[in-house]
Parts: sequence; structure tokens; C-alpha cells
Amino acid sequence: MGNFLSLFESFKISDLVDIGMLSIILYQFFSIIQGTRAVQVLVGTATITILYWFSLSFELYSINWLLKHFFDYFFIILIILFQDQIRAALALLGNTKLFGRRNFDEYHKQIEEVVMACSALSKDKKGALIVFERFHGLLNYSSTGTRMNSEIHADIIFSIFQPSSPLHDGAIILYQNRIQSAGCFLPLSKTVDLARQYGTRHRAALGVSEVSDAIVVVISEETGQLSLCFNGKFQMLENEKELRKNLRLLLFSSKDLSDKTVLQRSLLR
Ligand code: ATP
Ligand code: MG
Repeated sequence: MGNFLSLFESFKISDLVDIGMLSIILYQFFSIIQGTRAVQVLVGTATITILYWFSLSFELYSINWLLKHFFDYFFIILIILFQDQIRAALALLGNTKLFGRRNFDEYHKQIEEVVMACSALSKDKKGALIVFERFHGLLNYSSTGTRMNSEIHADIIFSIFQPSSPLHDGAIILYQNRIQSAGCFLPLSKTVDLARQYGTRHRAALGVSEVSDAIVVVISEETGQLSLCFNGKFQMLENEKELRKNLRLLLFSSKDLSDKTVLQRSLLR
């Protein structure tokens, strides 16, 4: 008890600032890596570290030898695991400020392809879910679908959402100017005040926009209605022009942020 009290007596304002700053850094770190491959690597590394400590404490020499060598090569293993992300990050470095125009054009083209596809799907009354991944990692949802890593092209998006396509069920996730995955299962919103006309497709769009900063385009199969979902809110759209305008507004306004964060995320994804 005496020790406990003396701990409080020696507690200074600077300790409070120290703890506060550390909490902010840890919070930021975990929000960046949430839903990325870095989490799996972190869990794997923690498990191996515990095993290493275990092998030292209980004198398990052969396991200890093996793990010691693993740590010797740890940085090379990290580079191999994240080679695509490191390459993307370096390319992005060269693509920001100096070649800003190219970056802008890429965003522009991506929106145009999505708008073209959505317009055709809406006219044909084909249901679709298109997710623009931004700062928050969605790897835990993209990994529920089929990995595509394909160009964002209106014809490809249109084909995916044809009822005869094996990938039409679920969402496509767009990130870094690519269709990362198709047929992805998204978290369903639990909100109770959702209009009755909204079924699970709309609930899934709302769900992912509640747990992340993703922007989601939904097309209703029943009515062909185009909607946008972000920040846990729905926005019904009149037509493709409105979709284009809103996508530009949402994606371009966050362009500065996404340039920086895409760089961080590409290292971690
Ligand atoms: P619509 O207006 O198109 O009928 P809706 O909101 O009424 O949409 P449903 O009719 O229930 O929704 O749509 C079902 C389709 O929604 C499924 O076939 C599937 O493609 C998609 N879907 C349902 N749940 C999810 C989910 N959790 N993640 C991704 N897609 C989903
Ligand atoms: Mg329905």
C-alpha cells in the first residue's frame, strides 16, 4: 500500500503528458494498420517472440537456435512480404507533388469508369455495390472475396455485376486505382431506423461506411436507384451526373489527405 501511495506522490504532470502522447501514438498506429496485412505480421511476430522467450526460459535449445536464426533474417523477410507495398510507396513518392497532374488524372479516370458502369447497371436494373477504400484498411473485407487486382474499367465492372457472373454477389473494393477484389462480404449495419425498402445490399453499404471512411456506391436491383453511402449516411442520387459530382467532391476533397495516407497505407497493406 505504501509503495502504491508513493507511486502517486512521485507522479508529475510530465508523466501525464508522456502517457497521453504515447496513447495518441498507439491509437494512430493501430488505426492505420487496422484491417491491413501488417496486423497479421504483427500477430505472427508477437507469437514468435513469445515462443523465443519460452525457449530461452525452458532451455529448449533447438527451438531457440531456429528462432534466433529467424530473427537474424527478419528484415529480409519483411522486405519480401511487403515488396509490392514498398514498390507502390516508392512509385507514389515520385507521383505526388511533382507529377501531381498525373495523379489527378488517375482519380478523374477512375470516377469516369465507375460512373459509366453505374449508369449502364442502373438502366438495366442490375444490383451493384462498389466500395472506394480510403484511409481505413478494408483488407479483412476484400479477403472475403476473390482477389482481382485488375484495372478499373467500366466494362469490367459492368460484367462483374451481371447476374450470370460468379462474382456478382457481394461488393467490389477499389483501392490504389485497381479493383482489388470482387464478391466481398461487407459488415451489415445494425441501425434500426432504415427504411423498409432497404434490404441487405443497402445495409451492407451502410455497414462498411459506419466502420470505415469508405465511400460506397449502391445500385438497387429492384428500382435501379443510385445511392451513395459515406460516414454512415445514405444519399439518394437523381442521375449519373449527380453521382459524378458527388464522387468528385468526396474523393478530390480528400485528395491531399489520401496522398499522404495512401503512402502510409501502401507500406502496411
Ligand atoms: P435491392 O434494392 O438491389 O433489392 P436490397 O437492399 O433490397 O437491394 P437485397 O435484395 O437483400 O438488398 O440484395 C441482396 C444482394 O445484396 C445479395 O445478392 C448480395 O449480392 C448483396 N449483399 C447482401 N448482403 C451483403 C453483404 N453483407 N455484403 C455484400 N453484399 C451483400
Ligand atoms: Mg431487395
